[in-house]
Amino acid sequence: MGEALRCGGGVRFKSYGETPLIPVKSFAGKRVAIFGLGRSGLSAARALKAGGAEPLLWDDKPQSMLSASKEGFTIENLKVADWSEIDALMLSPGVPLTHPEPHWTVKAAQEANVPVIGDIELFARTLNALPEKQRPKTVAITGTNGKSTTTALIGHILKAAGRDAHIGGNIGIGVLDLPEMHAGTIYVIETSSYQLDLTQTFRPDVAVLMNFSPDHLDRHGDMDGYIKAKKRIFLNQTAHETAVIGTDDEWSQAVVTEMTAHHSVNLIPISSRRTLGRGVYALNGVIYDATTDRARQIIDLKTVRTLTGRHNWQNACAAYSACRALGLTVEVIVAGIRSFPGLDHRMQEIGRIKNVRFINDSKATNADAARQAMSSYDSFYWIAGGRAKAGGIEELKDLFPRVKHAYLIGEAAELFEKTIGTAATCTQSRLLFTAVAQAFAAAEKSGKEEVVLLSPACASQDQFTDFEARGDAFKEAVADIQRSLASA
Ligand code: ADP
Repeated sequence: MGEALRCGGGVRFKSYGETPLIPVKSFAGKRVAIFGLGRSGLSAARALKAGGAEPLLWDDKPQSMLSASKEGFTIENLKVADWSEIDALMLSPGVPLTHPEPHWTVKAAQEANVPVIGDIELFARTLNALPEKQRPKTVAITGTNGKSTTTALIGHILKAAGRDAHIGGNIGIGVLDLPEMHAGTIYVIETSSYQLDLTQTFRPDVAVLMNFSPDHLDRHGDMDGYIKAKKRIFLNQTAHETAVIGTDDEWSQAVVTEMTAHHSVNLIPISSRRTLGRGVYALNGVIYDATTDRARQIIDLKTVRTLTGRHNWQNACAAYSACRALGLTVEVIVAGIRSFPGLDHRMQEIGRIKNVRFINDSKATNADAARQAMSSYDSFYWIAGGRAKAGGIEELKDLFPRVKHAYLIGEAAELFEKTIGTAATCTQSRLLFTAVAQAFAAAEKSGKEEVVLLSPACASQDQFTDFEARGDAFKEAVADIQRSLASA
């Protein structure tokens, strides 16, 4: 259940307070059913209890219920519960709300007219209950790709500017485990489509929608369902709030068109591909701010090593726009972008052995994400595979000529070899460790500057617990080669 907290491959929550840091008082005196006792379920239970509610916990796994009861929570069999006595169902984001079909708790709640909500909604209700003057600001980030990088970048810029910023949600610390709310605090929250589907009153001061490509369609039915879930980030925004929206794919562009026509929010379109009449864009890596009459040159991202590639230019445009909306000066934002340390497992250069550079892009859990890394190198030895997403790597065909040789791992290995066909030579490596050794041997032999790129275009769960474990295994395999060469 904990895994399911993070869509797109499963980020582990990095730290948890045993006690909730944000007590949820909006359900004081009420009974809230909680299904799914992973990290977010337990966090919600603690937060609700601290706010005076009575959480009623249930899970499919007896072990989870046992540890919850040891913590003093009420375990209630929701299969036979009287739902007319329950005020809300808090669902873990990993539990299906609509597809492939609504979970039985969802059906029971809906039949009894009980609202079905998630941890972001609990956070939102707590925020909304505060008097205006005491209310912290929130920035929420969603999109298919780039969420974590943009969230981390915004958080970094704010912290570097001396602001009291807290980063969490779908990245790092769960939203209810963040420090308690007070005026002056800024919450920077990564939100997945699953989490947004479970919101009703969430109204971020700045909402960022990065991009769309097909992902998680099993949970949203189709692309329309997926987009609808993500668009909920703007649902309650008014002219006082800001919406930052990517325009580099047709789906996001359609959202901009719709928002322009029907929504009075302060809208900042962004692009890392083309000039915008109004908005923030990056051309050849240089960010321009055209939110006022004259476009102003902001920063040349080609000088920022941690934000290479067009996809990172989009992330930087989004972060810049969000921070401007929060009132930071251009100079302060630029300084923050320059000092951004980058995130692990995202096109991360982990080392060099002889003539070979190793790039860890384990976070590329779908083809669109892998495209970003693959287009950043003219040629490379490619390690790919794992558990394939719908469509596999068909859409990457134009990039196959850059592949000097593909080392294929995991469940998708044979499928990927078929898709690659004669466009590049392939080896069925099966295991990541083997793939790294084989790729290094071939790359070293060439004697030229070479890149070994792990950008799997697949989920990791067939062989690893999550993409982080996969990236760590890649690092370990590289370290192993280093050690064996040193001792030779
Ligand atoms: P998310 O949190 O949405 O999964 P990350 O910031 O963790 O996104 O980046 C995951 C991978 O997606 C990166 O390794 C990179 O290859 C790719 N990526 C990052 N930003 C973008 C973007 N703006 N557009 C497309 N792909 C991106």
